[in-house]
Amino acid sequence: MKKFHNVKKKRKSLKKNLLVLHIKFFFGMAFNKIFASGSLPALVKFRSRCAYSDENDSSNGTNGSIQEVMPASAFKVNPNLGYKVHHHLLQLGIETPYDPLITDSSNENAANNARKIEQITDKFKEIMEILGLDLTNDSLEKTPRRVAKMYVEEVFWGLNPHNFPHISTVKNSMKYDEMVIERNINVSSHCEHHFVHIDGIAHVGYIPKERVIGLSKINRVVRYFSKRPQIQERLTEQIYAALSYVLETQDVAVTVIAQHFCVKCRGIEDVNCNTVTSKLGGIFQTDQKTRGEFIRLIQIPNANCQ
Ligand SMILES: [Zn+2]
Repeated sequence: MKKFHNVKKKRKSLKKNLLVLHIKFFFGMAFNKIFASGSLPALVKFRSRCAYSDENDSSNGTNGSIQEVMPASAFKVNPNLGYKVHHHLLQLGIETPYDPLITDSSNENAANNARKIEQITDKFKEIMEILGLDLTNDSLEKTPRRVAKMYVEEVFWGLNPHNFPHISTVKNSMKYDEMVIERNINVSSHCEHHFVHIDGIAHVGYIPKERVIGLSKINRVVRYFSKRPQIQERLTEQIYAALSYVLETQDVAVTVIAQHFCVKCRGIEDVNCNTVTSKLGGIFQTDQKTRGEFIRLIQIPNANCQ
């Protein structure tokens, strides 16, 4: 009996040792990887950003009135900031060539959208008829209105400063002075030459000065400018300029990698090609080391956050 207990004890301690070994091995591998990449300070600071809550006070207007929640995409918008950013882009000469139909109220904005949907429905009906399609067919009859609603409410709502996202920033009281990078941000846009899809990702980095931004707000800015007929070069510039304006720093870096369906499905019909654009400002442009660190950090594999 005593012998049996001893065997049991030995097995237990063997299991314990094995568990300790596994834990040591796992953490050893993880730390080796992080130290080998030389990015531990940046990563530790990057993770700790998640703990801060949002506030709404910034001199560039991020504390402007929040007027509505868009039913289609359910996010808070800040029209005042949208018009400020619009004027900023106009001054820089990088605004999309369009008439933003400046509106004073949400009601006026909604009326404009309803009118646009009616007009586009009529015009698209004409296009389909010219193509010889039978609009009495029950599969086709609602297509003109479906396309009109898609243009105004789903894929081109970024053609309206009224829909600019509310951006929360907090005072950089923690004195964070390393890079913050938001990686693999979804880019779903349309090329302005052919009105077909652009499908890609964006990486956005910045080095905080007086303020830090709520992380998802970077995604929202990318999304806002993606929801326009675009060319990738301008999209990249606009994301950079808007974030640089809101964050009050030139130290912003934007990289966009995307596939253009006008290259894939027509013309050259190249299905493997993608396009890379980048806008590096401030220290990202002038300092080789900072530029190199940004490029290295956007390339490290995704961490398993589960
Ligand atoms: Zn195109």
